[in-house]
Amino acid sequence: MISDNLTVSENGELLFVGRSTVELLAKYGSPLYVMDEARIRARMRQYAEAMRAAFGESALPLYASKACSFKEIYRIASAEGIGVDVVSAGEIFTAHSAGFPMEKAYFHGNNKTDEEIRLAMEVGVGYFVVDSIDELNAVDEAAAQAGITQKILLRITPGIDTHTYEAVNTGKVDSKFGNAIETGQAANITARAMEKPHLALMGFHCHVGSQVFDSDTFFRSADIMLAFIADMKKQYGFVTRELDLGGGYGVRYTENDPTIDLADNIRQVGEHLRASCAALALEMPAVRLEPGRSIVADAGLTLYTVGTVKHIPGYKTYVTVDGGMGDNPRFALYGSAYTVLCANKMTQAADMVCDVVGKYCESGDIVQPAVSLPSSVCRSDILAVTTTGAYNYSMASNYNRIPRLPIVLLTADGGEKVVVRRETLDDLVQYDL
Ligand SMILES: *Cc1c(COP(=O)(O)O)cnc(C)c1O
Repeated sequence: MISDNLTVSENGELLFVGRSTVELLAKYGSPLYVMDEARIRARMRQYAEAMRAAFGESALPLYASKACSFKEIYRIASAEGIGVDVVSAGEIFTAHSAGFPMEKAYFHGNNKTDEEIRLAMEVGVGYFVVDSIDELNAVDEAAAQAGITQKILLRITPGIDTHTYEAVNTGKVDSKFGNAIETGQAANITARAMEKPHLALMGFHCHVGSQVFDSDTFFRSADIMLAFIADMKKQYGFVTRELDLGGGYGVRYTENDPTIDLADNIRQVGEHLRASCAALALEMPAVRLEPGRSIVADAGLTLYTVGTVKHIPGYKTYVTVDGGMGDNPRFALYGSAYTVLCANKMTQAADMVCDVVGKYCESGDIVQPAVSLPSSVCRSDILAVTTTGAYNYSMASNYNRIPRLPIVLLTADGGEKVVVRRETLDDLVQYDL
């Protein structure tokens, strides 16, 4: 199957981490997110180990928590000894409330507000990844007021087109993120940052995009960043201590997606860095990677109940579930592909092509078009959408005043735990006066 934490029982039920999805739905209600803790931990470990082997002991993965942010996942990251990247006061607050060691947090974003900057300093966020000159000035002032020296990285735009979807393509010169090397802005902000009395410039960051399979992309961005680092040493005598190459490794949503050998790719990035450092007479900086999607995507699954099946003769068949764009807006946003399975009829032939749609009041509320399901599919059947651990819960909304789903974590010790509870109707009106 699409991911090896999915199997089928003798009675034709989909099992996730060996647990019956049909029983999980009966126990926790529908619709439901389920997550695999062992998988999350294994991926975090895989990054940590591969990075140490490729870049040395100073290397550290940072979990890009915007992919899926709730308290327990920061506890897991903390227990695994890795860092996190955070992009808002909300993510900072969640990590801090969960007891995450904030000196291992990297604060990203292209518009950090004064309030967010103050909160981040109050809770001791280790690094700010500064996106612009305006922000450089604001962070320096805030550090002065707080009486601290704030460590920072500068976000650099290497000028790489990842040829992925436009909205997740962030490394091009005309991106809203970062400072382009090509235009001289990257060099300029470096010079300005070095002069700031309350900032300690530790190095540089880049993030070229998401859902990237083209391994060449990471080698090219590493090469471009090192050439820039060498240039900053030559021009300003600046010694780079940290190099953060961002996230972006792709995951398999369907059988058509390729696989990527993470450890091998990271090893090759390491070889590029070592060779370039030697050629440029640079010391190897401490390397950071920021995987989000590839840590949590296949650790997640969404379960729905079928409500209606509508055949439009000569046109198509719609199968409607009790969720949709509120819990997974990714098809509506990016046309994202997903694998959909009938969780209680896994041994029946998937002999009917249909569009699986949601219950939200919009024609664009499509979970996935042209899905093959058993033609017997009917009300009360259970559909599973696989690989929903990344950018589903974290992008969920209350559109149509539909409560958001809970997350049940299948724990590494074989138990299960509700880590985000289901929203209630009372929750929905709690801010209304
Ligand atoms: C979104 C993002 C990531 C994570 O990207 P994935 O594709 O989920 O691995 C990492 N770093 C930055 C700066 C990001 O914006």
